[in-house]
Amino acid sequence: MLNLVLFGPPGAGKGTQADFLIEKFKLIHLSTGDLLRTQIAAESELGIEAKSYMDRGFLVPDSIVIGMIKSILQENENANGYIFDGFPRTVEQAKALDILLDEMDTPVNGMICLCVEKDELINRIIHRGKTSGRPDDQDVSIIGNRIHVYNEKTKPLTEYYKAQNKYFKIKGVGSVEEIAQRVIDTVATL
Ligand code: ADP
Repeated sequence: MLNLVLFGPPGAGKGTQADFLIEKFKLIHLSTGDLLRTQIAAESELGIEAKSYMDRGFLVPDSIVIGMIKSILQENENANGYIFDGFPRTVEQAKALDILLDEMDTPVNGMICLCVEKDELINRIIHRGKTSGRPDDQDVSIIGNRIHVYNEKTKPLTEYYKAQNKYFKIKGVGSVEEIAQRVIDTVATL
């Protein structure tokens, strides 16, 4: 199996790059943001709870997202591998992922971090907000909160993966294809 954590701040292009990687390496795309938005659209109990955090730019509680990931991993034991997009976002989630993958006798092979500076992130999200319909893409203060939460809670995960020699930093600025090539070249070394 090939298991990749696609990492980076909101607006870094994780979803866009995940599309290239799925195609190239035939992996299952596991985006916690997409999974949560599906729950919101279905107006499930989980979705209603998640929405109250997401609309304000806060993280959804670890127990909710870890539970979602766990059930998907258990449903697809024979997959070629996974792209984890937007997960893990806390050290607690990273530890839970290691335990879940360990039970399947497979590790995280690498964490690919897309590096983009703050002004560019805000511009991209505002632009995306014109068509995404996402409440958390509409308001500069909510976007600022998401970036703040990333810096406080999520960015420390780089240390977690560096300590395991699994951290790969990629410049996330340039054309979508250029960035995809950088990501693919890095993944090919794993
Ligand atoms: P982006 O990377 O642009 O923030 P996502 O779709 O990955 O977009 O996430 C949108 C929102 O969904 C986050 O701000 C957060 O509220 C929630 N979310 C997604 N993934 C997680 C996660 N792993 N843990 C907690 N909350 C999450």
